[in-house]
Amino acid sequence: MTQVFNFSAGPAVLPKEVLQQAASEMLDWHGSGMSVMEMSHRGPEFISIYEQAEADLRELLAVPANYKILFMQGGGLGQNSLVPLNLAGRTSQPATIDFVHTGSWSGKSVKEAARYAKVNVAASSEANGFTSVPPQDTWTLSQDAAYLHVCTNETIDGVEFNFVPTVQGATPVVADMSSHILSRTIDVSKYGVIFAGAQKNIGPAGLTLLIVREDLLDHALPICPGGFNWRAVADADSMLNTPPTYAIYIAGLVFAHLKRLGGVAAMEQRNIEKARLLYAALDADDFYRNRVAPDSRSRMNVPFYLRDESLNDKFLAGAKARGLLQLKGHKSVGGMRASIYNAMPIEGVQALVDYLNEFAGR
Ligand SMILES: *Cc1c(COP(=O)(O)O)cnc(C)c1O
Repeated sequence: MTQVFNFSAGPAVLPKEVLQQAASEMLDWHGSGMSVMEMSHRGPEFISIYEQAEADLRELLAVPANYKILFMQGGGLGQNSLVPLNLAGRTSQPATIDFVHTGSWSGKSVKEAARYAKVNVAASSEANGFTSVPPQDTWTLSQDAAYLHVCTNETIDGVEFNFVPTVQGATPVVADMSSHILSRTIDVSKYGVIFAGAQKNIGPAGLTLLIVREDLLDHALPICPGGFNWRAVADADSMLNTPPTYAIYIAGLVFAHLKRLGGVAAMEQRNIEKARLLYAALDADDFYRNRVAPDSRSRMNVPFYLRDESLNDKFLAGAKARGLLQLKGHKSVGGMRASIYNAMPIEGVQALVDYLNEFAGR
């Protein structure tokens, strides 16, 4: 088999062990004679897969008992509508929603929420080109916001929160953690809602994970679609309609794999080391450039530019020839981007660093 290192931002690399296990179980899951794809979501085989996945995720993130874990569809983008539709009813109408605008994804969230509520951009790093997280003491939060929305890792801009937002009073914090969930330890109790599309750090596209504090399940606007009402989904154990069964199965294999590796704290140590290696190579001289303030740099998504951008195609072709794939930056910002999620081994980062040094003629 061709050995490559895949730096895609998503859908992204999955642990080889997980793909091997899925391949070996593809035609006959545990002697059932069926593929997981062919099973009823209400049968005992799939229910056992679902319950194990949920329990393992709860353990990995130490999710408190008063939080529900929902396995939904519609992606992170879908939650840009579904969060306001499910939460804007928490206060008197029209509700106000606070945002911290730190890059492309939080920007999309602001735009979508404005269809359902008043939005207050409490802080923005747009003026500096989204190269840092505005310090908490500069935020102008509303008195009575339905919630505060943050994107704790901006996948395109490569900006990550290194602190937990704190809010006065009862305002819940909603965090889009799509591209760094399970990469570092978090205190779930500091958030009201956490959501994440699966295709970055969890599993296949098509699954969206939510962790919702129970008292926040009951604030939907009347226009919230019934199939996406969090209370209804929670009461049906995510089986209000057919859930993305195969994606849940693969996510469950990833959760079990992370537990075998020592859990989220162990992943965080690996991720710190991987990021350190890569940023050190980018910072070695001015051949490459990452524009993000050091204390806001993402451990997961590392955008960078060549000083001489006329070499971009040559850089990408040389990388591809070495099996270093999908390094082209997002079309909205150009340049390069290396996504180094949990499933990227340190050997992959080392291979990229070796290539960066070689290409720079060091
Ligand atoms: C990828 C991503 C999304 C959107 O995910 P989809 O599943 O494509 O809708 C939202 N937020 C962040 C931070 C992302 O990285």
